[in-house]
Amino acid sequence: MKSPMLEYAFFEGEFVPFTEAKVSVGTHALQYGTGAFAGIRGYLDADGETINIFRLPDHSARLLNSAKLLRAPLPFNRESLADTIVKLVEKNAPGKDVYIRPFVYKSSVQLTPRLMGLDSELAIYMLELGDYLDTSSGVKAAVSSWQRVSDNSIPGRGKLSGSYINSALAKDEAEEKGADEAILLDAHGHVAEGSGCNLFLVRDGALITAPVTGDILEGITRRSIILFARDLGIPVEERVIDRSELYIADEAFFCGTGMQIAPIASIDGRLVHEGNVGPITSQVREIFFDTVRGKNPKYAHFLTKIRIPVAAGAN
Ligand code: PMP
Repeated sequence: MKSPMLEYAFFEGEFVPFTEAKVSVGTHALQYGTGAFAGIRGYLDADGETINIFRLPDHSARLLNSAKLLRAPLPFNRESLADTIVKLVEKNAPGKDVYIRPFVYKSSVQLTPRLMGLDSELAIYMLELGDYLDTSSGVKAAVSSWQRVSDNSIPGRGKLSGSYINSALAKDEAEEKGADEAILLDAHGHVAEGSGCNLFLVRDGALITAPVTGDILEGITRRSIILFARDLGIPVEERVIDRSELYIADEAFFCGTGMQIAPIASIDGRLVHEGNVGPITSQVREIFFDTVRGKNPKYAHFLTKIRIPVAAGAN
């Protein structure tokens, strides 16, 4: 199978072929999950010649915050990290939508599970990526028996590698039940988020999502949707959500960089909006996709635009 990875990666201070970006099997991050990552999308603009990176400075800032939680000082600030990502995109010159994965990790070969006194490094690689889950007709969701990691166990507001075991357990369970994605509840039984995405419900014309203090990742797509909705005059409530609200919601959707905006057709076998995409979901989804494709001038400031040479874009 052809690797979906693009040719170049950034690895420990230099641009190298992806196949040369390798670490020792004894790497601390590999053994203990002491890494933090970002997931960023670049969309091919409607002009076919530009890659639009969605909210790059915000992803860059969040990765640096995750690195702080990991006690991983890096020789990068928000701007230089974003610039390095732009340089990598330019070097790979993709002709399609891409997903960019920057990764901060404890690179020391060391046996003690700790954060202090270890070396930290940054790597970035990227691949071509279309839809991760269906964004048109509706996905199946299932409430997980796995509880979302709490801020006092592994802080979910950092994208910390080790905590993704929690996501993986929930995702497997959902798929084994025949669903596409899990909905995790927090330690109090309140609705937190998906395994790799945030969640919105619609009730009585208002959008509802868990608060940033509800053991969720502070999603950048979530933040964008709150803004789009408020600009449309749709009320948004960031509040504790009961499980039973999932079953009586008028509409529901997942959102995230990988997920984009994925309408939910059913939750635990109960149809949402009769299994069809509801009007508010549809409105927000349209603004999102128009924005990332460079067709919505109102939110053009969310895009870092990178011109791709025509010859590269043609393949
Ligand atoms: N929650 C989790 C657990 C995630 O992994 C993601 C994906 N990054 C999200 C929410 C959505 O965040 P964002 O919109 O910033 O991608």
